[in-house]
Amino acid sequence: MNIIQEDFRISTKSRNQMIDITSQVRSLVGQTSVTDGDVIVYCPHTTAAITINENADPSVMHDILLTLEKLLPQHRSGYRHSEGNSDSHCKSSLVGCSEQILIKGGSLQLGTWQGIFFCEFDGPRSRKVIVQVRGE
Ligand code: ZN
Repeated sequence: MNIIQEDFRISTKSRNQMIDITSQVRSLVGQTSVTDGDVIVYCPHTTAAITINENADPSVMHDILLTLEKLLPQHRSGYRHSEGNSDSHCKSSLVGCSEQILIKGGSLQLGTWQGIFFCEFDGPRSRKVIVQVRGE
């Protein structure tokens, strides 16, 4: 089995933002010789996350961010973390810092409406995404 690890950076533009990184991941997978296996997309940050959801209608991303804001407001009595970004840490843990996508016949096995998103919860910042491709 081959294991290839790469990374790329993205600049986020607002405090809460979801950025479609499907093309970057697909491109990195295409640069490897792996045609059957999987790819792990990992975010090494405590106030950001990776998720898979609809990339056809941008309103879905808006509604996910709106829902997270309602669940986890930035200011709430009881928060102890002195940086003032407790909501960002909570969102990161709720959404999760990685996704695994299967690769078959050289293609990512994403559904028709699925895309891979980097989720910024404490931007704007420069962020890193690590991609590990595994397989034959
Ligand atoms: Zn913090």
